[in-house]
Amino acid sequence: MPGALDRWGVSVRYWNDRRPEKPRQTCQGVSEGMTNRLKKPDIMIVGTGAAGLFCALHTPKETSVLMVTKEQAEESDSFLAQGGISTLKSAEDYESYFEDTMKAGHYENDAKAVEIMIRDSPEIIEDLIRFGVEFEQDGEGVCYTREGGHSENRILYHKDVTGREITSKLLARVRERENVTILEHTALLDLVCAGDPVQCMGGVLRGPDGALQALPAKTVVLATGGIGGLFASSTNFPHITGDGLAIALKHGIALQNIHYIQIHPTVLYSKKPGRRFLISESVRGEGAVLLNPDGERFVDELLPRDVVTQAIRKEMETFHTDHVELSVAHLGVETIRSRFPNIYQKCMEEGYDITKGPVPVAPAQHYFMGGIQVDLQSKSSMDRLYVVGEASCNGVHGSNRLASNSLLESLVFAKRAAVQIGKDLRQESKQPFPLVDLQAYGDIPALHREYRRVVLEEIKRKDRDFYDKWCNHET
Ligand SMILES: Cc1cc2nc3c(=O)[nH]c(=O)nc-3n(C[C@H](O)[C@H](O)[C@H](O)COP(=O)(O)OP(=O)(O)OC[C@H]3O[C@@H](n4cnc5c(N)ncnc54)[C@H](O)[C@@H]3O)c2cc1C
Repeated sequence: MPGALDRWGVSVRYWNDRRPEKPRQTCQGVSEGMTNRLKKPDIMIVGTGAAGLFCALHTPKETSVLMVTKEQAEESDSFLAQGGISTLKSAEDYESYFEDTMKAGHYENDAKAVEIMIRDSPEIIEDLIRFGVEFEQDGEGVCYTREGGHSENRILYHKDVTGREITSKLLARVRERENVTILEHTALLDLVCAGDPVQCMGGVLRGPDGALQALPAKTVVLATGGIGGLFASSTNFPHITGDGLAIALKHGIALQNIHYIQIHPTVLYSKKPGRRFLISESVRGEGAVLLNPDGERFVDELLPRDVVTQAIRKEMETFHTDHVELSVAHLGVETIRSRFPNIYQKCMEEGYDITKGPVPVAPAQHYFMGGIQVDLQSKSSMDRLYVVGEASCNGVHGSNRLASNSLLESLVFAKRAAVQIGKDLRQESKQPFPLVDLQAYGDIPALHREYRRVVLEEIKRKDRDFYDKWCNHET
């Protein structure tokens, strides 16, 4: 167990206290037994989802970047994205794309942030293609699909595994970068903050062997994703538990719209515990229909997610059932198996052949529109702390995200953060790294319970109805 005070953040003793018997090779040739060699990075990025990786790829090559992630680098929600990534496919589509985004967000969106996201999207897609991402093509060029709330086909995709295609290519490019080190199974437990005004000086990390280290960094970027792990029924990885939010609450860092939480209307219904499998909106975009127990359609399947979710819940109440059905069989075997191979396979594993009959679906927690408040450069209310991706709230999504806008938003604003950080780094902080009492982090389960409690309490404070409907039974 960690035992004394760490003065300079190089607590080699703690880090090595419980060294694994056989040092295991992790990314970038750093093995667990060697983690005591960690030096103060210029930039510490927490999270290896699309937002963290894209940010790392746009940091200046002469800076040292340390990326840490709770689990394996591939275990992020970004890898799970199925449907695709929206883009401005032509200048003529701007007004319509802008309006679709605002309408889905109930006009609570930050219009400037929406404009930046849409205008920057072609450049981001070019970046992705340069990094090796392949989008679906036909004889005439890239293909565009459509999802709920979009009045045009403007979503690029890669089969039904777009997130895996994008994120695995970004990860491969990051692994090639000599200035970036990735530490897997390494969790951020807290930020180290000091000064007046308070600034972020680094983070408290827990390594793969359970050892603790308070590591200074010139800038910290939180890319810790959403909050699905706080819910019993979610499409997210269970380890994505809104840690960044809990830590922000602890340090008085401003949050925004923490109660804006998206429920996805159609996840594969299951009584088993664990992550829920998403039946992507693009399935409805390609013509799948929702049916009640009488076999009747009851909603326009391409309305925004919150509207479709409400309609499904109403139907479930009326029929006293815990799911409705989604039918896709009329699209034909060939289309289904070539366009949605992953969904087809997963449903088969669960005992449903979607080429022959409907599958039971129900709503579940899916996405988090709120987060740590950031400006248009992704800077939080605390100096030297940036937040990107689902953990952040720049107002793009308003109170409800338009389908396939989240990968795009993550990438656009992660790149902006990297550019701004490059400028910030020219100014060194004169604030000395403070004394960090690592004993305070000795009881990890208690810390996690507390983090979970504070986030759920904050959601309850902001929206009691939502909390009672979706979170109450979780605590
Ligand atoms: C099933 C599913 C399907 C989706 N489909 C689409 C889609 O088609 N189109 C679209 O645009 N969006 C989609 N989304 C949403 C989109 O994937 C996410 O919003 C986006 O990828 C979030 O990226 P991120 O980098 O912010 O977070 P994530 O990809 O979730 O990454 C978070 C990272 O933070 C790490 N982390 C968390 N806490 C800590 C900690 N304390 N210490 C260290 N590391 C930590 C995690 O290990 C992980 O590496 C989908 C989401 C899901 C779940």
